[in-house]
Amino acid sequence: MTALADILRRQISATGPLTVAQYMSACLLHPEHGYYTTQDAFGAQGDFTTAPEISQMFGELIGLCLAQAWMDQGAPKPFSLAELGPGRGTLMVDVLRATRRVPGFHDAMELHLVEASPRLRDIQAKALKAHGPKWHDTVESLPEDRPLFAIANEFFDALPIRQFQRDAAGWREVMIGLSREGALQRGLSDAVPIAALDHRLDDTEPGALVETCAHGTAIIEALAWRIAAQGGLALVIDYGGWRSHGDTFQAVAEHKPVDPFARPGKADLTAHVDFEPLAKAARSLGCEVSALCKQGEFLERLGITARAQGLAQGLSASALESHIAAHRRLTHPKEMGSLFKVLGLYPHGESPPPGLEP
Ligand code: SAH
Repeated sequence: MTALADILRRQISATGPLTVAQYMSACLLHPEHGYYTTQDAFGAQGDFTTAPEISQMFGELIGLCLAQAWMDQGAPKPFSLAELGPGRGTLMVDVLRATRRVPGFHDAMELHLVEASPRLRDIQAKALKAHGPKWHDTVESLPEDRPLFAIANEFFDALPIRQFQRDAAGWREVMIGLSREGALQRGLSDAVPIAALDHRLDDTEPGALVETCAHGTAIIEALAWRIAAQGGLALVIDYGGWRSHGDTFQAVAEHKPVDPFARPGKADLTAHVDFEPLAKAARSLGCEVSALCKQGEFLERLGITARAQGLAQGLSASALESHIAAHRRLTHPKEMGSLFKVLGLYPHGESPPPGLEP
């Protein structure tokens, strides 16, 4: 049992069951016991490995995509370069190295990081101190008066979701309560009408489970209206699909799937990202939205194979082997190539950024 499990059990006894979103928020971001607040999640020693931690090629290609889109929009000065949930700062370090020689890009750029975890902010500060980043608790405080070029990799999957199970009368919400023995356990609320799920009555049957992420929609809205008004680009990269079907709430610890209720605060909790509601929200605010693209295709179009061959020239033996494995891991359909998707938001009247299609 964890300290956070104790806190949550007391809270549930006092005020009743929690939504999955409330449980997820507490587990990830509790100020003392949250997963991102306390654990070193990344890399071989941690619980999971993200694309930028697998290979420098990922951040380099994203950097070139951002810089090309910036040039295509007339190289505006000043502009905000923002990352949501930068983790250890690796992606941004690679973006900044790859764009160093793009004339005017670094001079025009102001770096903004949206990060909830004070511990990760310290790590990011060390990695990025040469660029004087400004930190934000939420996207709401990102500048509104200039173009915004933003990237979010494996950020939206960490946002709290709610789950609803359909029954004959409407939807019942999945709630976290206590068993008779006092263990955390899943249950269902009474049936409630949910207007936001009306359109899901057409493609689900009673018994089906769907997920919603209001937090994700709100964040996309904050990005989209800035981009619609001032220009820029947002790249959202994450695992998921167009529309949620079924339970994707999952926990990972030490690179293995674990029970999401077993050790609250000690495992990473995520859900697949539903891109349809994000795309709709962005369009309703006047942004153009790219077609949803598989990560493997996106990276191929940006030239990952040529970059991989270039880097391979200087490598031999085990370094070469792990470089080849990293290329495969990022792009192969059986690895991250198909499960991970890329969505681009860009201003009306502009072409989609390199690697994406309208
Ligand atoms: N993008 C990085 C890290 C992904 S992990 C990479 O690809 O390696 C998710 C990141 O989002 C962490 O930095 C975490 O602290 C941050 N995060 C999660 N939920 C957040 C929230 N609600 N607000 C701000 N940051 C959040």
